[in-house]
Amino acid sequence: MAYTDKARLREYNREYYRTHKEARRATGRKSYEKRKEKCRDMARAYYAAHKEERRAYAAKHREEYPEETRAALRASYARHAQKRRAEARERASLPSVRQKRRKYLRSPKAKEYRYGREAKKRARAGAVVDFTAEEWEALLTEHECCAYCGQPFDLFRKPTRDHVVPLIRGGNHTKDNILPACPSCNCSKGARPVEEFREALANSA
Ligand SMILES: [Zn+2]
Repeated sequence: MAYTDKARLREYNREYYRTHKEARRATGRKSYEKRKEKCRDMARAYYAAHKEERRAYAAKHREEYPEETRAALRASYARHAQKRRAEARERASLPSVRQKRRKYLRSPKAKEYRYGREAKKRARAGAVVDFTAEEWEALLTEHECCAYCGQPFDLFRKPTRDHVVPLIRGGNHTKDNILPACPSCNCSKGARPVEEFREALANSA
């Protein structure tokens, strides 16, 4: 159908659009969906090809606009917080995850962790805490080796603050109750009184 009369053609088109509104809208949406995918793919391909460049640019931008970057991060965090929380709740309620968690909470490891933390807290609360960094430095000059096993401290055997009378047994966090010990001795001494530990150390040697 060839329209030579422009006015008639315009009239026809207008009428067509009016009567096919919904169908045209649907077509438009479909075409947009198609384009959207393509655009996304193109953007992805571009990003992949220029990864280093884009990263450097983003880093520079973050450095140049620290305030804006922080605000954007905060906004993004807030925007996704609800979703994230919901996802975490959902994950936690999975039977397999719940079972794992129950098993862990009953395990000796979890109990030890729990009781250890609580006992430490209680012990700390009752102890005299009076120990300065200078006092620790002085102790280190005095003791170049572990106070228990006698091995010299170095990069791999760093001195730790051992409580001669453990906090849990009423010892204090003070200069006269602290000795530099290697991590191994500090750990294996645990809450034992020092004489008992020395004896055990001597017997095992
Ligand atoms: Zn030691």
